[in-house]
Amino acid sequence: MEGWGGMTGPETDEEAVERIKAKWAWIAGDDEDVGPSSADLYSRAERSGHLNRLVVRRYICRNRGCKLATVIRYRDRLLLRTQPYKLAPGKNAETSNEISRAISTIDGDRFWPGETFDVVELAVRDGRALIDVNCRHALHQLDPRDVLVDVESVGTGHPGAPRRI
Ligand SMILES: [Zn+2]
Repeated sequence: MEGWGGMTGPETDEEAVERIKAKWAWIAGDDEDVGPSSADLYSRAERSGHLNRLVVRRYICRNRGCKLATVIRYRDRLLLRTQPYKLAPGKNAETSNEISRAISTIDGDRFWPGETFDVVELAVRDGRALIDVNCRHALHQLDPRDVLVDVESVGTGHPGAPRRI
């Protein structure tokens, strides 16, 4: 027989849900409405025409200096936007399967879109959440905790030299 039947331990599912909700409440705020998504917020910042004033860090590829990602401080959020990139056919085939390519790429094959992440939300999550920041030459990953530390004392709009990763 699969499973343990009633032997699910002292916590019921309902209790578990309440516990998890309580844990996340301080991030989402008391309001039920969690507000606009990270991608929406980043797009708003872009459309405002003042993106440069919000930037706290840029990341570039160690080898060729390709743009990899931009981090902005916007309202009370720290948002990281990755650059769209095209992978060489070999590397593309090696690192993804056909279905995910069909679903996730811009061209159905090897042109991957940029993505937006809430750095704080990822950093405080249980377990290890790494952000893929890729260019055509290399697949890189950023740890959101490192990004938090990296930008902590950076003035908004004063990112300094891009970090090479
Ligand atoms: Zn590169």
